[in-house]
Amino acid sequence: MKLPALVIDTAKIRHNTRVVSSMLGELGMRLVGVPKSVLGHPAVVKAMVEGGAAAIADSRVENLARAREGGYAGETVLLRSPAPSRVDEAVAVADVSLNSEVEVVRMLAKAARKANRTHKVVLMVDLGDLREGVPVHKAVETAKAMSSEDGVKLAGIGVNLACYGGVIPTREKMEALLKVRDDIESSLGLKLETVSGGNSANMPLVMNKEMPAGITELRIGESVLLGTEAVHRSPVPGCYPDAFTIVAEVIELQTKPSKPEGQVGQNAFGLVVTFPDRGIRKRAICAAGRQDIDPDGLTPLEPGVQVLGASSDHLILDVQDAGDVKVGSMLRFIPAYSSLLQAATSPFVEKVVR
Ligand SMILES: *Cc1c(COP(=O)(O)O)cnc(C)c1O
Repeated sequence: MKLPALVIDTAKIRHNTRVVSSMLGELGMRLVGVPKSVLGHPAVVKAMVEGGAAAIADSRVENLARAREGGYAGETVLLRSPAPSRVDEAVAVADVSLNSEVEVVRMLAKAARKANRTHKVVLMVDLGDLREGVPVHKAVETAKAMSSEDGVKLAGIGVNLACYGGVIPTREKMEALLKVRDDIESSLGLKLETVSGGNSANMPLVMNKEMPAGITELRIGESVLLGTEAVHRSPVPGCYPDAFTIVAEVIELQTKPSKPEGQVGQNAFGLVVTFPDRGIRKRAICAAGRQDIDPDGLTPLEPGVQVLGASSDHLILDVQDAGDVKVGSMLRFIPAYSSLLQAATSPFVEKVVR
């Protein structure tokens, strides 16, 4: 195995997807699988579909194209508003896209007519997180404008929380979204097929059975990939936390003081770091760095290994209390979302499918 490696256990992803999709199913929702943190890796897409994902959603057209090239033929959803310069690609790879600009939807409609397709749009409503979406008071007029374009169909509405502002999805937020649905349906005299209620930060509501009826789907990445919900990062019961592992190789093993010696200034990232004095310790360096992982998003699997930090190419560990670590040892870590994203996007990290 070439190292560092990101090891992908597809059986665990399939299992996690099955667990979460059945939780959603009990509440009348479908699971839309989001493989964006692994760049739409075809093996991950396949595992999600086998586990019950009803559609595959990603923020990037490249990732949806990759899923398609990998053999996925089901429904595709583009999570980020298509860029005006790329509406043709968006229509080619996505059956549905999340939108908040009428101008973009007009361009999508034109592209869809040209391609002889009908593209579905979901109108995003901002309920306080301050990322994408129109304010609630503009939802009806925007829906009206979007639904009047030939070539596109207004499939429904959606919301995204807990991503930028950190606003927690609550039952009240979900009810506010359903109220927007009711207003649009009664003003426009149409039925919306989709009410897309959020992401893995909605899982606490699901686990506590607090999702109101009427939300038709959640768009889920983290909970099926890492087995955690995205509000407190607590485990989703029944899900594996180790569907992904990062493996890195020890290239130096030395005993060193735990505090730097000499005049201390900025490190490679412009920060002045302070170190607790724990005396002389056995330390290991792995051949992996910020170009491959986020040191703050790594949980060592070997007992007694502690992550101290990383520069671009060196991951520094305290292994004083660990077992038999040698130069050449392969150490394993469970990635948090930040490290998974970094490893998946790094050209230096080998992707190994199990
Ligand atoms: C990334 C993303 C998701 C999935 O988020 P997870 O926390 O991984 O479940 C859902 N919706 C939108 C709009 C996204 O950008």
